[in-house]
Amino acid sequence: MNSQSLQQTLNPPQIPASYLNLMGYVNESAVNGPGCRAVVWVQGCSRHCPDCFNPESWSFELNQLISIEDLALKILSNPRNTGVTFSGGEPFWQAPGLAKLARQVKAAGLTVMAFTGFSLEKLQAPNAPAGATELLEQLDLLIDGSYIKELAVHSPNSPVSSSNQRLHIFNPQLQDKITWASDQIEIHVLNNGDRLVTGYRRYEK
Ligand code: SF4
Repeated sequence: MNSQSLQQTLNPPQIPASYLNLMGYVNESAVNGPGCRAVVWVQGCSRHCPDCFNPESWSFELNQLISIEDLALKILSNPRNTGVTFSGGEPFWQAPGLAKLARQVKAAGLTVMAFTGFSLEKLQAPNAPAGATELLEQLDLLIDGSYIKELAVHSPNSPVSSSNQRLHIFNPQLQDKITWASDQIEIHVLNNGDRLVTGYRRYEK
């Protein structure tokens, strides 16, 4: 990590209360967890894994600020969605806000999944990021562990993208819904003409 990144990590710009700082959002996806899901990519990750899928997410600078209320309404506005997935960036650096969002969408019957570069054990330790316990309590599914390119998995049957990562199924009702695969991608064309590629496989720009 260079000195600027370290400074950003140690002293990130303040995210206003009741807001989240996002790298991106899509209103539905079939390759980021079971069923049809909204996907929230948070901004900020200090790990800088080689071949990271979303290096644009590394900076902790303010990018797209959205209120938790507005984001919940967006997610719930799509009747096809059965859940929401938090990705990044590192979701657990914004754990209190995501826990609040998760509570709102779960009250409407959606499931919540998250990716994290932390191990589950680190998230359960006393020095875990603020709000980690709150967010873990809301999760139906968690994929933990950072991406390690030497351990990359390219399989139509694997929900993880490198073999060190683990899928934790906290909601037994999803046990038989682990049907997505790390080798799937989607390309979304946004209203402004930009393309957003999602899925776990490294793609060339
Ligand atoms: S933990 Fe995830 S978002 Fe962060 S650098 Fe690694 S692959 Fe990228």
